[in-house]
Amino acid sequence: RGATPVPPDARPRLTVLSGPSGVGKSTVVAHMRKAHPEVWLSVSATTRKPRPGERHGVQYFFVDDGEFDKLIANGELLEWAEFAGNRYGTPREAVQNRLAAGESVLLEIDLQGARQVRDSMPEAQLVFLAPPSWEELVRRLTGRGTEPPEVIERRLEAARTELAAEPEFDTTLVNTSVEDVAQELLTLMRVV
Ligand code: 5GP
Repeated sequence: RGATPVPPDARPRLTVLSGPSGVGKSTVVAHMRKAHPEVWLSVSATTRKPRPGERHGVQYFFVDDGEFDKLIANGELLEWAEFAGNRYGTPREAVQNRLAAGESVLLEIDLQGARQVRDSMPEAQLVFLAPPSWEELVRRLTGRGTEPPEVIERRLEAARTELAAEPEFDTTLVNTSVEDVAQELLTLMRVV
């Protein structure tokens, strides 16, 4: 899109990392935060059931449908989307508090959410994480081993649509190496 270029001395405050499911967004973010724990990552609410090892308040706030309805009704979500049969949303207040404190904020969300943020916060920087190839994405989605085949099929379908959205983003990073992409993301966020 015709985004206003960020002046070299300005620090983009809100960065949105998006891309197809299975492309490795959370791996990149985890890697980045190991070296830079001060980078604040929004914790989303979701109606998805926790995967083994996931903890409430760490990877997600795991809520039921009724609680998610309430979050929407009370305007507590900055954006939300349904993805592969579950709902996911970004709690608004925590993000706003961090931004008000002048901190860099990172959202790791799906494409529908990225669009909502772009519309409501035009100053946000939208980063697309692309797989090295379609074959590689299929391999990663199939190889996770945590989801049944019909769930993988739904995610592949979503991924096909999501890949086509790349031109809507300000920047594309190709996930060839976790280390490289994490570094590029830090540079974009102007943390280093
Ligand atoms: P997963 O179930 O694999 O953790 O996440 C599925 C998808 O939902 C991923 O693409 C992830 O980035 C996205 N997602 C996670 N949190 C949010 C959120 O708060 N809002 C939106 N729109 N998508 C999210």
